[in-house]
Amino acid sequence: MANQVSFDRWAVFEQAFRQTAKPEHAAGLDDLKRKLVQYFCGNGAGSSGHEVDITLTPAQSKNGAGYRFVFVLYMVRGRPVIHYRGCPDLERAKDAATQRPPTPRRRNPRNPRKSQKPQWPKMAGLLLLLLGAVSLWAFSLGGGDEMEAATEPTREPPAGFPAFTVEANVTELTDTGYLKLVNRTRSAATPTDPAQLVEVWEDIPVRAIYITLRETAATAVIALFAAAEQAGHTDLFVASGFRSEDEQQNIYQNAVDRAYVLPPGHSEHQLGLAVDILSSGNQSTGGMAGTPEAAWLAEHAPAFGLLLSYPYEKQNITGVAYEPWHFRYVGRVHAWYMGRQNFVLEEYINYLQRVGGTTTTFDGRTYYILYQQPEGGTILVPEGLDFQVSSANTGGYIVTAWR
Ligand SMILES: [Zn+2]
Repeated sequence: MANQVSFDRWAVFEQAFRQTAKPEHAAGLDDLKRKLVQYFCGNGAGSSGHEVDITLTPAQSKNGAGYRFVFVLYMVRGRPVIHYRGCPDLERAKDAATQRPPTPRRRNPRNPRKSQKPQWPKMAGLLLLLLGAVSLWAFSLGGGDEMEAATEPTREPPAGFPAFTVEANVTELTDTGYLKLVNRTRSAATPTDPAQLVEVWEDIPVRAIYITLRETAATAVIALFAAAEQAGHTDLFVASGFRSEDEQQNIYQNAVDRAYVLPPGHSEHQLGLAVDILSSGNQSTGGMAGTPEAAWLAEHAPAFGLLLSYPYEKQNITGVAYEPWHFRYVGRVHAWYMGRQNFVLEEYINYLQRVGGTTTTFDGRTYYILYQQPEGGTILVPEGLDFQVSSANTGGYIVTAWR
């Protein structure tokens, strides 16, 4: 039993998901699988062919190159559920968990392990609390009711708004917006900085625990899930979030139908702004179409800044088949604007490029959205206003200012 995986549940999570395993661990994969099955199913159960779906993918981490363990795991209402079949005795697994002391190492200061007992009940409580808090937050932001509409295609700023006067060099600009267009013909010019990504598995149900998103997108998805739960859609989970170039390459290479899959560099998942949302009743993407969950998500996601990227009726524009599960974060005002005009991002950017800009009021604020083609390597940004700059990935930039 030397070199045994610690069977404290948190440690299993950490070792299997949070930690980037070293390449030499690949050789021990079967052993690890056996131990995980034995652990989760109890002694003696692991030999009877239970399947824990574990894959190893090459990954970069702060510690260098290695492999990441991913196995199919669902967080259902705050409870991790390992995807395996026919496990006869979960209770015995709990007993097994208390037979070994937990490792003292802490990787997650928000969830300190202090006792030898499995931490699931505490963790479930914590997650419920989090959901409660998030719901309040979502409500205080308001839903779609108070949003007003007054939009006008114009390059002129709204009344009382200062014109943009500060020259900004585009090579020195930080992309603070969420409108970069990435599709079959446009690749993400620069890879997403891993430092911008946060893990979401503690806050929302996920398929694999190693799912990351850009922080603003993660916050939006968490709020969306809280609202979905309140609406009775309690079995949704995130099946995919940020993907690295390598991961997208793997998916593309192994894709059965490339109508749904974009080549590496061309996926919104690589921006850390897209999520695939499935439900435990429809764990395959194909099962989502026409479900009440999919309808609810399509209708309510825009209020959280998330939009369906590949609607059924826009396949000829997006170049991607209908994906009722794939949502992209664009920010609340843009999601609202696009939803109202029935635009996909291709159309929205095209529109802004054509009309030059627009003003709108949304949720009590006035917005001035200006599309700019750099001149002499610079664009204009405002002084004394909050603003975001997004590369549109078309050569132009979208500056969104508000007050
Ligand atoms: Zn997707």
